[in-house]
Amino acid sequence: MSGARIIDGKALAAQVQEKVAAAVARLRLEHDLAPGLAVVLVGDDPASRVYVRNKGKRTTEAGMKSFEYRLPADTSEAALLERIRLLNESPDVHGILVQLPLPKQINPARVIDAIDPDKDVDGFHVINAGRLAVGQPGLVPCTPLGCVLLAKQARESLEGLEAVIIGRSNIVGKPLAQLLLKENCTVTIAHSRTRDLPAVARRADVLVAAVGRPELVRGDWIKPGATVIDVGINRVETEGGKAKLVGDVAFEEAKEVAGAITPVPGGVGPMTIAMLLVNTVQAACRQRGIDLPRELADLAGG
Ligand code: NAD
Repeated sequence: MSGARIIDGKALAAQVQEKVAAAVARLRLEHDLAPGLAVVLVGDDPASRVYVRNKGKRTTEAGMKSFEYRLPADTSEAALLERIRLLNESPDVHGILVQLPLPKQINPARVIDAIDPDKDVDGFHVINAGRLAVGQPGLVPCTPLGCVLLAKQARESLEGLEAVIIGRSNIVGKPLAQLLLKENCTVTIAHSRTRDLPAVARRADVLVAAVGRPELVRGDWIKPGATVIDVGINRVETEGGKAKLVGDVAFEEAKEVAGAITPVPGGVGPMTIAMLLVNTVQAACRQRGIDLPRELADLAGG
């Protein structure tokens, strides 16, 4: 087989964003509810600044309220915790996201712990990780939610499929494993200590790479016809000395073997922000005790 179908994450994210905007318009009209997202950025990491700007832009485009807090790089942990306490108490703020990484004087675990789990739209709080693990309603991390929707673009049903996830982080690999279990996949999580990783990868009908190693996954690691979801975002230098983004999958090789594949950029990345909007609407509805608008019924996790 040659020439995999390219799964267009940008187009899918735009569709999700449209549904969010429609849902928000109805919430404003019928319930006088404008979902609000607060994003806190500490320091001036250039990549984080771009992410925060995009999140704010998408939030307002969807008709929601966006609150941005830019704190200096030398902000103390106590000052950040106080900011989170105020946001937890604010009735206009339904979702709180603290952009990672944080400067080294701040312990990220303590910060995530301080966010009200019902406003934790990143889904990183231990309460939300636990809810996902036992199947209770909660907030689910955005990137894994996006990965599942992308995989469903290629496969009507994921039921019974062999899914292999390379990477076991708390923000991608582990929650994605839970979501794919919920889809009735047979799930394997592979990682840096996995023996014969190429052989494990070749078992996959759905292969997800969430590692952070440029082009680790080669064409001959892929089962013919498999659906490949590439979460990796790696900045590498081209021969001309320019920077470019590549995924964890060697795209040119992989697309000759796979049935469908997400590109980098333009695959998982845009879906992450789209799912953040969905999570914010979900959080707002739960806080007000109203049903999730029907537009978002098939999109929301947990
Ligand atoms: P992480 O560093 O927390 O985890 C990486 C995982 O990969 C670890 O579990 C490790 O065991 C595994 N690993 C490392 N080297 C390996 C190897 N040689 N073989 C097999 N497994 C190996 O990373 P993360 O936060 O999960 O992110 C992974 C990648 O996804 C990064 O490139 C990150 O930039 C990207 N990412 C993208 C988005 C998005 O929106 N598209 C969101 C989050 C992360």
